[in-house]
Amino acid sequence: MTPEEFRSAGHQLIDWIADYRSNLEQRPVRAQIEPGDIRRALAQTPPESPIGAEKLLAELEQKIVPGITQVQHPMHYGWFPSNASLASTLGDIASSGLGCLGISWESCPALTELEEVMCDWMRQLTGLSQNWEGCIQDTASTSCLTALLIARERASDYSENRGGLQAEDKPLIVYTTEEAHSSVVKAALLAGFGRNNLRMVSISADTRAMSAAALAQQIEADFAAGNLPCAIVASVGSTGVTAFDPIAEIVEIAAEHMIWVHVDAAMAGSAMLLPECRHLWDGVEQADSIAWNPHKWMGTILDCSLFYVRDVQHLVRVMSTNPSYLRSTVDEEVTQYRDWGIPLGRRFRALKLWYHLGIDGIDAIRARLRRDLENAQWFAQQVAATENWQVLAPVKLQTVCIRHQPPGLDGEALDRHTLAWVNTINQSGKAFMSPSQLDDRWMVRVSIGVEATTRAHLENLWQLIQTQANEVAGG
Ligand SMILES: *Cc1c(COP(=O)(O)O)cnc(C)c1O
Repeated sequence: MTPEEFRSAGHQLIDWIADYRSNLEQRPVRAQIEPGDIRRALAQTPPESPIGAEKLLAELEQKIVPGITQVQHPMHYGWFPSNASLASTLGDIASSGLGCLGISWESCPALTELEEVMCDWMRQLTGLSQNWEGCIQDTASTSCLTALLIARERASDYSENRGGLQAEDKPLIVYTTEEAHSSVVKAALLAGFGRNNLRMVSISADTRAMSAAALAQQIEADFAAGNLPCAIVASVGSTGVTAFDPIAEIVEIAAEHMIWVHVDAAMAGSAMLLPECRHLWDGVEQADSIAWNPHKWMGTILDCSLFYVRDVQHLVRVMSTNPSYLRSTVDEEVTQYRDWGIPLGRRFRALKLWYHLGIDGIDAIRARLRRDLENAQWFAQQVAATENWQVLAPVKLQTVCIRHQPPGLDGEALDRHTLAWVNTINQSGKAFMSPSQLDDRWMVRVSIGVEATTRAHLENLWQLIQTQANEVAGG
């Protein structure tokens, strides 16, 4: 493809995307297909001659789009808001168009230095002190794995340079709660701690936040048993019910024993753009690492996960390799992001943050987040004020956990009822919510915060939910 051919096909594609985004609401939210449908619609052998941009665009529309669950749809309330603002999409396209290679400062100085500046802008916008330095990782899962790797190396005095974790005489222990995201357990297992050394600290029954007293007790018990407490992964806005672990108390306990504290704020980090929400992570300044995803609620298109540490030297000491072919004459003066995480090559991700902030602007982003907070409060009030409906957890941000409990229904019959009404709505394509288990009973998470969702959409949703639940209960 020549640049001239690119220009013409590119204009067509951008026009198509603009139309697609404007008309999204007419499409079903959940993909209306069965497993295998998309695969079967595609040619089973590679094309022998080129298909051409025009025909591909038609196939994109006919064969691919039906297989997309529309998370940008205003009636999408599943999982978490995964906003892909158009401003940030332009930055992502710029990144692709420039075709940079980020393997060292020298391979693209602008990639490194814009990333430094963007991480610092985001630090300022979330009210963090200058003690933090950040980089952009692909996901919060990667950030958490990186955090646990460097925690492991700090606690073991750099066991990687000896026999690794396999040669340590004391088991290293990681603490989190059952409310934490599944990526936390995954990271702990992949980092070699072993399931036996992963402690699920008790949570408080109503807030589902980690109990600081239980944490302190568990740590004492581990010391007494000859184990080495290593890291605590604290949730700031857990996935299930948006629980907030008490960071101030946790960092105090951790400081006594030099235990690493990683703050997983993947979803709720966006709220820290609002000064009025920052009390939710009080104490965060004393943590060791923080991860949050602008690619969720804030709306900088995936993948964009910010990872901050206070001790960059330690991070680099664990993560760096310095092969001769990657060295240059300016190494002493520059940042080498390959030494801040696992991958060597990186994309020019900072461009999408730069575009997002530069085109939408922080004021508009903050106004939208506040709109979503108000919408969540409004929605929770409607549910709480209606007979036989419950809001099951405090609504700290934009997620509302609800259940319909008609008289006489409980236990497994209640589970069947909940799943029946939510799955019927989800399969209809009219709206999408995530059923989720709370204390082994099904409930429904209504995660508000898609850029296109207005109060009117929520009014529709509440009508739809009540009608469907009553219909299922009556039938
Ligand atoms: C979404 C989420 C994650 C995982 O994020 P990825 O970037 O998809 O890895 C981890 N923790 C919490 C609290 C989340 O909300």
